[in-house]
Amino acid sequence: MKNAQKLDWVKKRKERRESQRPEILFEGIRNGDVGSLSLAITLLESSLVSDQDKAKELIRLCLPFSGNSIRIGITGVPGVGKSTFIEAFGQHVISQDKKIAVLAIDPTSQEGGGSILGDKTRMNVLSQAENAFIRPTPSGKSLGGVARKTRECILLCEAAGFDIIVVETVGVGQSETLVHSMVDFFLLLMLAGAGDELQGIKRGIMELADLLVINKADGENIKKANLAAKEYKNALHLFPPNSNEWIPKTMTCSALENENITSVWTEINNFINHTTVNGWLEKNRKNQEIHWFKETLVDNILHHFLDKKEAKEEMDRFKDLIMAKTISPFEAAEKLFTNWIKDKNK
Ligand code: GDP
Repeated sequence: MKNAQKLDWVKKRKERRESQRPEILFEGIRNGDVGSLSLAITLLESSLVSDQDKAKELIRLCLPFSGNSIRIGITGVPGVGKSTFIEAFGQHVISQDKKIAVLAIDPTSQEGGGSILGDKTRMNVLSQAENAFIRPTPSGKSLGGVARKTRECILLCEAAGFDIIVVETVGVGQSETLVHSMVDFFLLLMLAGAGDELQGIKRGIMELADLLVINKADGENIKKANLAAKEYKNALHLFPPNSNEWIPKTMTCSALENENITSVWTEINNFINHTTVNGWLEKNRKNQEIHWFKETLVDNILHHFLDKKEAKEEMDRFKDLIMAKTISPFEAAEKLFTNWIKDKNK
């Protein structure tokens, strides 16, 4: 490398380092600069310890400015129309002078295979809008890891002044429960007339929903959609009441034709008003924080444990015993844990 080239490279590296300083990024984020927000999320995603340290510092700085958004989870099977819906919904809320961030969790991306959410060009108009920010969430080794990073992304987006954060996920796998644990409002998108009215969506997911929307209620599909809405409404009645004393509604919409999108937004606002007045919203946020804290703690303890060679060997020994039916998995876990604690206290 020639001297001039080398100098240029060193200068660029210095500039990059400077732009990644947590205080600089924080200032950018607080000014609503999407470039800084993107860079910050890239730091969150990085597995380099130095980047993670910067990300932690940044989260610490942003924390006092977080919490001021409506956090909405959206789920539904692939093809139900999630991206089309968010495209229409996002434009509607932007027209109400709101800023919207969309984060997408794809439970399939961690397997290194095709990504359900990531492959398509999604939300073309919204992604160009000044008051919108769209970002697929980082893929990670585990869904838990991905979820943690998404939660951190939410905090950063809030500090950047986004009023509405949508966390989108695919209606397969366990990602719904994870998303549910980080949002205020959970919206389930469904289709009518896909044979069994409870197509592919597990009952458990329906129980999580604060609003059930039958999409593609347009053209010849309107009748079927109304019928499905009726059936789902009846099904929802059978579920035990939610702790937030909110009775989930069922409605129809056409994301493609922009029909009834405003009603969904009205319903979300009704929910927020209802749960603000009865105190559930604040309580739920606090519970979620404690839940994240405990989950991360368990994760850290497990990782710390699994990093130790002796612990791994002990674990393998117990695994063999479990396979040989010499010991139950429960007793094995208990024994391994007590032995470990005893050794530590020697
Ligand atoms: P996702 O996989 O859930 O994100 O679904 P997409 O938003 O990619 O939509 C899947 C297909 O359904 C696309 O061809 C959309 O054009 C179509 N679609 C989405 N919403 C509607 C709707 O309200 N009505 C009709 N007729 N088609 C829709």
